[in-house]
Amino acid sequence: MGEFDLIARYFQRDGQVPGVDVGIGDDCAVLTPGTGTQWLVSSDMLVEGRHFLSTVEPARLGHKALAVNLSDLAACGATPRAFTLALALPRVDERFLAGFAQGMFALADAHGIALVGGDTTQGPLNICITVFGEVPNGQAILRSGARPGDDLYVSGTTLGDARLALEVFRGTLSLPGEQFDSVRRAMELPQPRVALGLALRGIATSAIDVSDGLAGDLGHILRRSGVGATLDADALPKSAVLAAQPVEVRREMGLAGGDDYELVFTAPASAREAVQRAAEASATTVTRIGRIEAEPGLRLVDAGGQALPLRLQSFDHFKTP
Ligand code: ADP
Ligand code: MG
Repeated sequence: MGEFDLIARYFQRDGQVPGVDVGIGDDCAVLTPGTGTQWLVSSDMLVEGRHFLSTVEPARLGHKALAVNLSDLAACGATPRAFTLALALPRVDERFLAGFAQGMFALADAHGIALVGGDTTQGPLNICITVFGEVPNGQAILRSGARPGDDLYVSGTTLGDARLALEVFRGTLSLPGEQFDSVRRAMELPQPRVALGLALRGIATSAIDVSDGLAGDLGHILRRSGVGATLDADALPKSAVLAAQPVEVRREMGLAGGDDYELVFTAPASAREAVQRAAEASATTVTRIGRIEAEPGLRLVDAGGQALPLRLQSFDHFKTP
């Protein structure tokens, strides 16, 4: 199968998506933005051995490749509109391509977005997706808007689970079968919090999605906003699997696990009811975990308010663990 047959068979689909005037097949895709909107663009690359293991089911990989990108749009409160796919494949493996496309398009269809172009080449397995999203002018939620006095929140209930799964794969932890299946799902099938991001527009003052660990990613909000925070490490939501781990593991995984794709966000204390309504409207659990303060830096405390002297290492691709 040649490059163009491969694209036609696995990636080109019929049907019109609003806003997409020309999709796959020309030199460029042609998109028409809504009136009074801004476009948000983000890319995320997945490299075999670095971001995923060769054992992952192709459909789950297709899902995750798009999910991590949609998570960035979610953090900004953007409505997803379209995406491109740049793919390097070692060989034409039809089982892989069929599964990958199925997982990716299932998530794309759930968000009503089209694949509008890309590039396909032979090489070590590498997947780069770029997503395009939209917000009404001036309404993107950015990292820079947190203010002293704001509450600090995190979404979901599986923070730390993906890292537990990674540690099982690395052989540093063992879990009973059904617990492993559950954390493996968190690692391989993250659910981008798009609906929550949209519901938080006009309410959240800042947001980020957690890809490298909560504490480290929160640090990006703090620096960009010129503020600090106190975070109650024991207030973090936990799955039953993580809750069964020793307290040090719970704190470490929750605060610095990585690959979570939950949203960390801030909102004024006066918006607590609005945040709850946004959580309900998007059917997403939201937990208040701390507050923003004027003093720079991140202060971790336990449930009793005592300082926790934790040294956390967030995930950094250029540092060896
Ligand atoms: P060009 O040589 O002009 O860059 P290509 O020959 O690489 O175009 O691709 C042909 C068409 O197929 C283009 O519309 C391109 O966007 C699309 N395409 C290529 N690879 C992919 C892919 N992996 N997924 C979606 N569309 C793709
Ligand atoms: Mg061209």
